[in-house]
Amino acid sequence: MGLIAGIMFQDITTLLLAPNAFKDTIDLFVERYKNKNISVVAGIEARGFIFGPPIALAIGAKFVPLRKPRKLPGEVMSEEYILEYGSDCLEMHIGAVEQGERALVVDDLIATGGTLCAAMKLLERAGAEVVECACLIELPDLKGRERLNGKPLYVLVESH
Ligand code: AMP
Repeated sequence: MGLIAGIMFQDITTLLLAPNAFKDTIDLFVERYKNKNISVVAGIEARGFIFGPPIALAIGAKFVPLRKPRKLPGEVMSEEYILEYGSDCLEMHIGAVEQGERALVVDDLIATGGTLCAAMKLLERAGAEVVECACLIELPDLKGRERLNGKPLYVLVESH
């Protein structure tokens, strides 16, 4: 991944090198989300694909990947969102999530909140109820939380 001038890139790959710390991280989420009747864990490409699946397996939920455009092979629904320069898009397979399912959205980090907001819209358009969004890291100075329309956000660490 290219580095962008002026942006402090928060790298979670060092956490993955420490199996005990990686496991403790997953366990914190599992402890919070087990017994909450969550049937879907939706992970955002790419780093939501690292943390989402072990949480999904541990709480007995299915894992649904939310991907960048033109990556999913089946029929998709898309949600575009605005970035500081330009726009981006997330896609989800039609039929992966059913009406009335309870969903958890997982990503590594929330900055402006645009990505999580688009992810929630996809799930809600499919008729799911988003129970919460979960990230390892929040950049609270960017006030991304305020873009989530009151939906709860759970994070492990804040970075200023
Ligand atoms: P945002 O939509 O602005 O909340 O951006 C969140 C998404 O962009 C997540 O998928 C993050 O992985 C990625 N991201 C944004 N800013 C950073 C950062 N400073 N370090 C690492 N990842 C970032």
